[in-house]
Parts: sequence; structure tokens; C-alpha cells
Amino acid sequence: MELPDKKLKLINAGKIVCEEELLRISDDETAVKVDAIGVCSSDCRNYAHFDTGYFGHELVGRIITPHEAFQRDDRVVVMHRYGCRQCPACRSGSYNLCMRPVKVDVGFRKFVKIRKHEAQYCLYKIPRGVCISEAVFADSAACAVHALKITDIKPTEKVIILGCGFMAVIFSLMIQIHNRNISVYVRNPKKKAVCKSLGVESLEPGQTDEIYGYFDVCIDTAGDADLLKHISKSMKCGSRCLCFSGVDDSNVFYSSYRDREVRILFSKHHNPDDVRQALCMLKDGCLPFRHFIKSSYSLDAVEPVIKAMLQGSILRGVIEMDSV
Ligand SMILES: [Zn+2]
Ligand SMILES: [Zn+2]
Repeated sequence: MELPDKKLKLINAGKIVCEEELLRISDDETAVKVDAIGVCSSDCRNYAHFDTGYFGHELVGRIITPHEAFQRDDRVVVMHRYGCRQCPACRSGSYNLCMRPVKVDVGFRKFVKIRKHEAQYCLYKIPRGVCISEAVFADSAACAVHALKITDIKPTEKVIILGCGFMAVIFSLMIQIHNRNISVYVRNPKKKAVCKSLGVESLEPGQTDEIYGYFDVCIDTAGDADLLKHISKSMKCGSRCLCFSGVDDSNVFYSSYRDREVRILFSKHHNPDDVRQALCMLKDGCLPFRHFIKSSYSLDAVEPVIKAMLQGSILRGVIEMDSV
């Protein structure tokens, strides 16, 4: 079978080209027609700096060529990578920390092909009732599910989230299911509206200056070492800080965290169970992403959407492709 694929390729910072080709599907491959692609902050970073390698990796689609558990027209999330199942990390069940992760050839494109034997590792069926423009962020949501398992927040603990992007939204929505004591540190006052629609308190620069030893948990989605250092005095002694984002210069804040014995936690990617739980949360209506995303309807919109995200005028965009 041959499918008329169209794919965006990033060839340098700020330079996208569109390639068209016939995608040949062999007998040992399964084809997925892409219905929607989420634009993620790592796509934006790659577009701006040409350094992350990620360009179009949050995908949902429907099965064209059935295989085992996957029937024709089943809606699926396509994960862009999966654990090799052979390295020590995978053998211990930590597929998220695989030492030789296998990449799936995703992208901003119309079709994806997957080798049949890997379908069970990288395709997840979307429950009925979940809209595709929200399911597309199952990958991001699963990363948050995984991070929250590590952080283990109790219902009465006071939580501060650093940053006010889409990940902060996901964390706020998930934590709110059992804990209402959430503050979000917002550096850009324009984003206060996001906190309002989430129903969480927003703290702006300066407002934390007089808060000492108050928070039990900090979740960092900003990756700003100076901000982490600044917030340390607002953390309780023995509190916990989950570094969700990488931090460029960790030396800047380590000693201030040592002084308060703040436990620094890390999380990376997600495991299959995390994805399934994220999809259940979407089905249960706990994650109303539609209020925080902007939909567009053509691959031509990818570049304007990325620019709007880089400017901070939208949190995240979704490209929906003739999803009739
Ligand atoms: Zn992503
Ligand atoms: Zn592995």
C-alpha cells in the first residue's frame, strides 16, 4: 500500500520545508492516518534554536491497516518513543528511563507507519468520548501523572507551581482533584487569566518576598535556577521540590535547598500505566484542556502556531486534520 504523505521538516532554526512523498506500507507495518498533532514547547524550542530534535511528536490518529488488538478506524495516541524492553532500566520496569529508547518516525505529517511488533508499545487506544484535540496531549498528561506519583502530594499540603505554561495547567488540574491549596508563580502578569480560569491563586514576582517556610511542595515547570533559589525561603524545612523541567545552572539553587533540607525530586517521561491513567482522566473530564488550547486546521498553520506560542499569546496549539 502507498499513502500520499506530506511532512514538515525543520532544516534550521526558523526554517521549515514541506516534503511530499508516497509512504510505502509493507506487510509487517501498520499505517495510522494522523487526525491531530499537538504543538509542544519542545517543538517551539527546536524551531527557535534547532537543538532538541523534537518536531511534531504529540499525535493522535486512526488505524488504517488493522493488526491484532487494533481494528480499522480505532482511534489511537501514537507515542514518539518507547522502551527497548532489553536494557537494565526496561527490565526493571522503568521503560521511561530506557538506555536505548526506540524512536517512532512521527512528525508534523499526514500518515505514520509503525512496525507491527511495536504497535503494542507505542499505540494506545483512545477511550470513546475523549475528543481528539485533547487526547493529543496524552503524552504531556502522562508525564504529569508520572511526576505526581513521585511527588505524592497529600490533600492538605500547600503546593506552589513555578511557571504558568501548559504543563503548569496540567499539574494544577490534576492536583486539584484532591487538593485545593495550589498557588502558581506567574512571571508574566498577562498569564494571570490562566490562573483565574483554573481557580488557583496566582503569585507574581515580589509577592513571595514575605512568605517564609510555607509551602510543602514545589513543582518546577519553569527551569529557572534563580527562581528556584528565590522560592527556597518560602519552602518549609524538609519540603519537596519536583524538578520537572531541566534546570540549566543547578549550582545556583542547590545550596539554598540544602540549607532547608528540601528534597529535590526528578521525573522523566512516563510509563505505559501513566498513559492509560492520563487517558482515563481525559475520559472522566478531569482535564478540560479545550479551554487552554487553540485549534488550527492545516499543516500550514504549524509555523504561525509556534510563533504564537513563543510570543506567549497562546499556551498550546493543536493542528486538526480533516477529522471527519
Ligand atoms: Zn511534548
Ligand atoms: Zn530499554
